[in-house]
Amino acid sequence: YKTIRLILGDQLNASHSWFKNIDEDCLYIVAEMQQETGYVKHHIQKVCAFFHAMESFAKALNKAGHNCLHLTLDDTEKFSTFNDLIAYLVKKYSAACFQYQLPDEYRLRNHFAEFHAPAVEVSSCSTEHFFLPEEDFPKYFTANKHNRMESFYRKMRKRFDVLMDDGQPEGGQWNFDQKNRNKFKAEDLKDIPEPLLFSNDVNGILKRLKKHKVQTIGRSESNLLWPTSRKQAKELLEYFCQHCLPRFGYFQDAMTCQSQHKWSLYHSRLSFALNAKLISPRQVIDKTVEAYRANDDIDIAQVEGFVRQILGWREFVRGIYWTHPEYHQKNYFNADRKLPDYFWTGNTKMRCLSEAINQSLDYAFAHHIQRLMVTGNFCLLTEVDPDEVDDWYLGIYVDAIEWVELPNTRGMSQFADGGIIATKPYAASANYVHKMSDYCSNCDYSHTDKVGETACPLNSLYWRFIDRNADKLSQNPRMGMIYNVWNKKDEDEKEAILNKAASVLRRIEEL
Ligand code: FAD
Repeated sequence: YKTIRLILGDQLNASHSWFKNIDEDCLYIVAEMQQETGYVKHHIQKVCAFFHAMESFAKALNKAGHNCLHLTLDDTEKFSTFNDLIAYLVKKYSAACFQYQLPDEYRLRNHFAEFHAPAVEVSSCSTEHFFLPEEDFPKYFTANKHNRMESFYRKMRKRFDVLMDDGQPEGGQWNFDQKNRNKFKAEDLKDIPEPLLFSNDVNGILKRLKKHKVQTIGRSESNLLWPTSRKQAKELLEYFCQHCLPRFGYFQDAMTCQSQHKWSLYHSRLSFALNAKLISPRQVIDKTVEAYRANDDIDIAQVEGFVRQILGWREFVRGIYWTHPEYHQKNYFNADRKLPDYFWTGNTKMRCLSEAINQSLDYAFAHHIQRLMVTGNFCLLTEVDPDEVDDWYLGIYVDAIEWVELPNTRGMSQFADGGIIATKPYAASANYVHKMSDYCSNCDYSHTDKVGETACPLNSLYWRFIDRNADKLSQNPRMGMIYNVWNKKDEDEKEAILNKAASVLRRIEEL
């Protein structure tokens, strides 16, 4: 072969221009690597999803007439890095060129930048997946200053002409969030759709993971429920448009422990398919807008809420990631606690935490508000080291890849960036959890008490967070009211709350 082209596990874009023509002189490589299974402890379903999707992609390429070599962990075990493997392959096939698509994370970009082999021409190209080309980041993002998602999103709507009506936002507003903050009432629960689950046989992959002693977290079955091909991704999108989109925005922030097997509520669960690039953000948006136009049951608030996640948040965090190479070192509150053990077992009396963690262990999935306002909020209030928090999020979720995980975890949820993404920390007492879920009414702790044996730990921890970080936050215009409330409390009450918080932290493993 004259050329070797590498396809990474999150580069499964069948519409890439590489695949327009068949080139007999080109060999595509799809490879399971220990380097990728080991950089963090991943959820077992996440590894299975990537490996199964890679295998399906390689098969589809061969079927379409391309030459694609699919290498399993068995084939690659003697290569500790991609570059070692590529060096071996270019030599074996006497290739004159090595080409790759630019990885979405620093770790692999830096790795491939170091590749060299005698007389081999190396080149890279775009993954052709995202809306915003990388060259345009400087026009939209400023390093180390607060970047507003809302203004970015409006520019994206205009530039890519999504839900626009003669230069104005369709429906007359850019944002319908005020309609989108509803809790489930008892009568809503029966209407929650069953999630569409796939049944991909991953027995062979599970055996390989065992054989190669790959360390994982979470629970697995031999049938993987995640979509691992473009066909399945499209089916999931179709299902979402029909069953979930009509109520997507409305219940976007709601949480419940009464849904059991309907655990993904009205969410799309498309994040894995999107991040592995089985499906493109353009396809997803076009399909949802088309469904909105064709279906009177879907109002603008639902479709706008969804478009905002993909065209807004997803593209926004990517820009933040690439304009902040130092982001992974940020630790605004100097948090340094270890993550409690129940993050790996789900074994805690706090109902909100146990629901979010157990669901994550069972399905490698939790929805946005569970990630932000349950596990994320808990870590923020208990001062967990953001490195520990990042590793947990990067490992546990099926959709977790650093470019999207890092800004969400370190920035949005931990405010460790000091306000590059968010205008204030997403810190909350039990009041918020109670407002958006039925967790508190099914919990041993009392969501109204701040002190006392059964008081919800979040309440005293919340005030400790406010008190402790006054120098960093009290001047924030969005926090003024909270500081007024705190400052008006009498000293005895403050002391009792802070004592309670200190005792909660001393017993953090027993909550
Ligand atoms: P839906 O609710 O159906 O939303 C549709 C799509 O919008 C998602 O598939 C996703 O592609 C996109 N989206 C929504 N919110 C965001 C966001 N904040 N940032 C980027 N894209 C978004 N998402 C990941 O893809 N990978 C991660 O590693 C990840 N880590 C997160 C960590 C924390 C602490 C938080 C608060 C959020 C994180 N998110 C991450 C964002 C979001 O929680 C998931 O994208 C979402 O839960 C996936 O489920 P879904 O496909 O059903 O999403």
